[in-house]
Amino acid sequence: MSDSEGQPLTEACDRFVTWLDRRVVAAGRGDGLDRLEVAPSGTFWLGRLACEEEVRKGATDDRSERLDPCAIGIRFRPAETSPWSMTVTVRARAWVKDPKDGPDPDRRWWRTGLVEEKIPVVVDTAGGTFGAKQLRDAFAAVGAPGLSAELRVEVEDWHRHPELVVQLVNTSPERAPGLTDSHLYETQVEVSGLATDPFQLEALPDSFRYDRKVPAYGINVGVEVVAPGVFRTNDTVSVQTFRPEYWNSDRSQPDLSFARLAADPVPVLTDLVDALDEYDQKHWSATALNARHAADGWTDAMRTEADRSAAEVFAELARLRAGLELVRTRPEIRRSFQFMNEAIGLSAKGRNYHTWRAFQVGFLLSAIRFLAEPAEEADHVDTVWFATGGGKTETYLGLLLTAAFFDRLTGKRTGVTAWSRFPLRLLSLQQTQRFADALAGAELVRREQEELRGTAPFSLGFLVGQAGTPNKIVPKPEGDEIGPDSPGMPEKYRVLLRCPFCRDERLTMKFDRKRWKLEHHCTNQACPWKRGALPVYVVDQEVFRFLPTVVVGTLDKAASIGLQQAMRGLVGPPQKICSEEWHGFTYSTRKKSPNGCLVPDCQGTLRSLPMAEERFGPSLRLQDELHLLRDSLGAVDSHYESLLDHLQAKLCGTRAKIVASSATLTGYDHQVKTLYRRRGRVFPQPGPRAGESFWTVPEDTKLRRFVAVAPRGVTLEHVSDRTLDALQRCVREMLNDPATVCAEAGIDPRHAEKLVSIYGTDVVYGSTLYDVEAAGRSLGSNNTVDGINVEQLTGQTDFDEVRDILERLEKPEEKFEDRIHVIAASSMLSHGVDVDRLNTMVMLGLPLTTAEFIQTTARVGRRYPGLVYVLHKIGRERDAQTFRHFDKYVSQGDRFVDAIPITRRSRRVLALTMPGVVTARVLMLIEPASKQRLSTPAMLRQHARDSGLNPADEAAVVAAILGLDGPEDSLHQQQIVEWVRQWFADLEDPASKARFISEISEPFPMRSLRDVEAQAPIHD
Ligand SMILES: [Zn+2]
Ligand SMILES: [Zn+2]
Repeated sequence: MSDSEGQPLTEACDRFVTWLDRRVVAAGRGDGLDRLEVAPSGTFWLGRLACEEEVRKGATDDRSERLDPCAIGIRFRPAETSPWSMTVTVRARAWVKDPKDGPDPDRRWWRTGLVEEKIPVVVDTAGGTFGAKQLRDAFAAVGAPGLSAELRVEVEDWHRHPELVVQLVNTSPERAPGLTDSHLYETQVEVSGLATDPFQLEALPDSFRYDRKVPAYGINVGVEVVAPGVFRTNDTVSVQTFRPEYWNSDRSQPDLSFARLAADPVPVLTDLVDALDEYDQKHWSATALNARHAADGWTDAMRTEADRSAAEVFAELARLRAGLELVRTRPEIRRSFQFMNEAIGLSAKGRNYHTWRAFQVGFLLSAIRFLAEPAEEADHVDTVWFATGGGKTETYLGLLLTAAFFDRLTGKRTGVTAWSRFPLRLLSLQQTQRFADALAGAELVRREQEELRGTAPFSLGFLVGQAGTPNKIVPKPEGDEIGPDSPGMPEKYRVLLRCPFCRDERLTMKFDRKRWKLEHHCTNQACPWKRGALPVYVVDQEVFRFLPTVVVGTLDKAASIGLQQAMRGLVGPPQKICSEEWHGFTYSTRKKSPNGCLVPDCQGTLRSLPMAEERFGPSLRLQDELHLLRDSLGAVDSHYESLLDHLQAKLCGTRAKIVASSATLTGYDHQVKTLYRRRGRVFPQPGPRAGESFWTVPEDTKLRRFVAVAPRGVTLEHVSDRTLDALQRCVREMLNDPATVCAEAGIDPRHAEKLVSIYGTDVVYGSTLYDVEAAGRSLGSNNTVDGINVEQLTGQTDFDEVRDILERLEKPEEKFEDRIHVIAASSMLSHGVDVDRLNTMVMLGLPLTTAEFIQTTARVGRRYPGLVYVLHKIGRERDAQTFRHFDKYVSQGDRFVDAIPITRRSRRVLALTMPGVVTARVLMLIEPASKQRLSTPAMLRQHARDSGLNPADEAAVVAAILGLDGPEDSLHQQQIVEWVRQWFADLEDPASKARFISEISEPFPMRSLRDVEAQAPIHD
């Protein structure tokens, strides 16, 4: 049977998700149970209400009331003046404990029948209480005498419009004879017959884009409007999102396939820009805005925002036109763009996609001018904003390969085109693989071009902290140094998951002693790469020796610029090239490398560089996840970015273009200015309405169902355990009894096996390592389902272990019981882990930032409908606020993204970064210019005297590099002068114990940009 007959898989997924959610909520509330062995108050987390007496006694603040509330309700804004009348339906049950000699001694707790009472309410501004006797009688009638509850209606008339608060309160006594549990369960309030006006969410910038109406607010619950004028409380708040369509125009989408753009790009690019032009005129012209202004009742402030946005939209259109014009008129730009498309086409083969999304091509066109006008365009940081769409990495790669080909076509025969930085310590292997695949595609294209044959093969470098791959390999390792025979060598340092040329997974690692290289080899005889080791360099020193076309790495590695003279190759020219085959570029001489070659005991001679020195500077620096560069990490990086700029300007006279990606738009211009001293520019501009623009519009296919949970009365860990337990139980039911489950859920049984695979692994996500570890541990001990296999994926997880886990996720074991069932993950997961089999997630509290929420939840439901439980730490103010308008939080998440705290004027940070700046200048500029070796303080001391190096000049240079040379920075300047003066004094000190330049004065240069606590707040 083909998919076109019978039920499509997406529909089966959707039904399965609905069934899963129903079961999880039932587990939280106790639906459908008749008896229990344990106390229900220690088990259920939804629908329960503690008694008021108990809450009042224990409650010292709002916080504990939210943790185990005694009331639920709804807040309205009535449309008419008092008196108000309505009908309130109350639903609830109770649990009662039998005596020891009851009918079922092992399961003494039993659940009563449903209490369902319609209570007529009429109130004036004084409010009132209703239904107390009716409810008490009803509880007695179902077998729970002693329980009581009432409706309380309060009127708040101090708001601009009066507000009505209708609450069901559990008024039962905490203890009474015959009362075994004072909680109410499965509570629900439904209000009808009241005319209401919606609330307006508070005005925020560019609110013209948003629907700000909220029909009613829940109190300790969600509210749904089940029919016009009928409001019902809901224990969870569910929000469904839909997959985006990447084309939103009346015109048909031009063919943006790699093949078409490689063959003849101009006509389709013209169609694309014309369609955008038409859309922008239709939605953003003065006429269009006038019409919306009138129809939607905009305020003047909203109109001003709309006008400002329109100006940016038309500026973006102009940039795309300019980019198109360059592709049309500049042959080397057009050819670079075509080669790039051919290369991406090759690298995408076998991954089942062959075309760009329109916004990806839009970004490339908007940024491509930096090839033609590098100096001017370097003033702007182009940021891809990807909150609404996937495909960010491919977009980068498109730009990066275009630049690489352009470099080659214009005389840069070798060296680094781009240094791409990721903010985390551990770079995702999947992401690295995508870079390798793209470069392999580019290499295959390069080989076919006559004029590029004389240039170096395209290659990839991997530059991460020591936790990933070695800095260097030494013949006789000491301490934690690594030698050719160290444990785990060489297999432990495998970075690639498969051969980027032929996709074969049979890679072997090898250390070649003659070439002194740690190599990946493809063992496939038919591989199109026929030149031995794959062009991938994973040891820092090999990156310096071979200066690969693209270097990917972690941001913290930038610190090496202040410690490691061979880092010079990432900002400018090396010194020479070694005559020995495969030794590569050389740098300043040292005791262990007397001729400057980094291969131990090299006997080679030095030859001059194969191209002009100024071409060695990289054309691009990429920054992934820009929004994470905040607080102290952002402050430290801002200084190192300035240092990189300074060194490249001095060595090459050029400035790298910076391109970034970010999950947030809020405050990116300030952030970019602080970090890079450049102006910010974002692509794509947000559309005229939330969630909709020329580039994306939601379609009908379901993406993720977000379920907000405010746990009551039990711990968050308990709820997380129970939720995972319920999810695992459900999947096992599907595995063992597909007929019954499929019938119950309305699923075509032929999908059962697939559903077990794609919903069989749950993610439990914690923002802190502590949460993650606790979740992993407690699940092992608290579940009702046997044999749940849990794996952890955090920043602490070993490199090779991450690789194995990803592999197991992508290619699950044959038998379900052998598979991974739960992944306990930290933010490490939110970056570049793309596994189609991760479709359910339990989030332990809201992450610290909305950006993290958006990114993390994007890890599930990548291909199939996802299900995300967001367990709110409801005692926290922020979680409580978010729970209150969870639907808006999900649907308009980008607007809740908080501005990014960042400054470059922290004096505490300056104290940490200055040493690296001074040392880097010695290593990268002063020493090479001196034509002598200045590796020890004694050598430098003599040179400083001879050349007139002095504290005043050096301090002024440092202040200028860091942008702290303005009149308002006098304190910073003083701090710099003092430290530099001390550094010179220490340099002159004959008793100094310093062995290296980096040890002249304390503090020593930072070893990692993470030497500061990343999230500590920083002030000017
Ligand atoms: Zn291969
Ligand atoms: Zn050599």
